[in-house]
Amino acid sequence: MDSPTPFLHDLLVIGGGINGAGIARDAAGRGLKVALVEAGDLGGATSSASTKLIHGGLRYLEFYAFGLVRKALAEREVLLDIAPHITWPQSFILPVTKGGRPEWMLRAGLFLYDHLARRKIVPGSARVDLRQDRAGRALDARYDHGYRYWDGWVDDARLVIANIQDAAAKGALIRTRTKVVSAAFDGELWTARLSDGSEIVARRIVNTAGPWAGDVARTVLGRNDAPALRLVQGSHIVTRRVHLGGDAFMLQQPDGRIVFVIPYERDFSLIGTTERDIGAPEDAHITEGETEYLLAAANRYLARPLTRADVVHRFAGVRPLVLEPGKGDRETTRDYKLVNHAGVPALTVVGGKITTYRVLAEDVMKRIAPRSRTWTATAPLPGGDMERLPGENGQEAFKRWLANLTAAQNNYDPLLVRRLAITLGTAAERLLQTGLGDNLGGVFEAELDHYVNNEWATCSDDVLWRRTKLGLHIGNAGRAKVAEWFGEDAPPVEDDAPVTHRFATPGG
Ligand SMILES: Cc1cc2nc3c(=O)[nH]c(=O)nc-3n(C[C@H](O)[C@H](O)[C@H](O)COP(=O)(O)OP(=O)(O)OC[C@H]3O[C@@H](n4cnc5c(N)ncnc54)[C@H](O)[C@@H]3O)c2cc1C
Repeated sequence: MDSPTPFLHDLLVIGGGINGAGIARDAAGRGLKVALVEAGDLGGATSSASTKLIHGGLRYLEFYAFGLVRKALAEREVLLDIAPHITWPQSFILPVTKGGRPEWMLRAGLFLYDHLARRKIVPGSARVDLRQDRAGRALDARYDHGYRYWDGWVDDARLVIANIQDAAAKGALIRTRTKVVSAAFDGELWTARLSDGSEIVARRIVNTAGPWAGDVARTVLGRNDAPALRLVQGSHIVTRRVHLGGDAFMLQQPDGRIVFVIPYERDFSLIGTTERDIGAPEDAHITEGETEYLLAAANRYLARPLTRADVVHRFAGVRPLVLEPGKGDRETTRDYKLVNHAGVPALTVVGGKITTYRVLAEDVMKRIAPRSRTWTATAPLPGGDMERLPGENGQEAFKRWLANLTAAQNNYDPLLVRRLAITLGTAAERLLQTGLGDNLGGVFEAELDHYVNNEWATCSDDVLWRRTKLGLHIGNAGRAKVAEWFGEDAPPVEDDAPVTHRFATPGG
């Protein structure tokens, strides 16, 4: 008897980080039959280990990367509009320092930053007197003035999920915790073999394996024409909140680097990042030296210095950059490159930023479906689809929706309503209406069901560190309860030890 003909996909996407997720969504929305295969958790690698900024990258102006900065600044407005529940405008204080970049240079850079792209949502920059401004209270008294400028903040891991949800809603097949181990092209179609023994047949493959893109091109697709990657580890620490205001700080360091201190998860500050070349993504882990570097970088400025005891969480990520021989890690471009493999319908994505994932997806679609129409710039992502009044942008609609939701659900703690709203967006409304179920030490049973049934979560780490960041808030007892809910043995962790996350490796 003949074996049944496998379903034919137009596109197989290898890797469910932000780039794979964005391409799958865009392609599915243009009517392509899409399959996306992710070896680990969706967004489990680089796309949950970023600094979480939707930014043009003020410091890239130093390297004359005007094209990249303009593209990213324009995109900042788009993402703040289409994903208002998981993004917001974020102000930064840039103190002027003796021995740092001269003030005229900062002013010129900020002027360009304000004017390179059209702004509707994000305010412009202004000089601040740190002796008068509330932000100055966080800083040592010798920093008496600086500039306040604006970028965007995004929950990177949730941006991946929102894109995947929309791709799935538009018919994409999503397979997680499954690796693509090989792919053979017969002159017409690809047959990809997966780690569970199943196969996917597709007309075309896009390789969005991030730091593994080179490996996947060579070992899975059998191509030797992928460009070399430069793998640069970047690490972050999470500490007690350094100041109560909403500003983040952009701190110039004596070695010329920049370290950000960003308000994080209400009670904490996120401090990063370092830059260190590594040989393979599997080598990535935050070192003691990086932890010390980040503490010293923040303490150079803070009025109330941080100590090791203030560090509650640490994680490392790997920037998959395009290798540019002769350039250092700071000068290497953060822009992406799309590489068509010779003679086969396959393309590898190299580099990129969270900020530019949507335009990257449009560029990929220009190559693989040139006659189809762009659509994602104005289509809200799942959760960000609250009603908009005429003339309202996404951020304004979100604020109005949240105020109404808080009033309508006044039997719940407003902080809980807000937490669910900035995690799930409009899906929070349904959850609150139907009831949250048992409280497992700070996370609710109905929430866990939601992450499992609608967001591909399969274990406690997926929920505690990616679908939410509740791992920071609910302590050992809460983490153990969630692990128990998933049927896992809760690992014994000393309460005062910072939780350190190794970089996720495919299938690891
Ligand atoms: C420290 C740091 C800070 C950053 N800060 C920012 C920032 O503030 N703003 C910004 O815009 N950008 C930032 N970036 C850049 C941004 O995070 C990355 O460009 C982006 O996340 C890359 O996404 P990706 O989808 O290409 O890769 P990834 O997210 O790594 O996804 C690749 C996926 O492919 C999967 N995979 C690999 N091999 C296989 C296989 N054989 N089969 C199936 N799946 C496979 C992996 O498991 C992985 O999940 C930062 C990066 C780092 C490291």
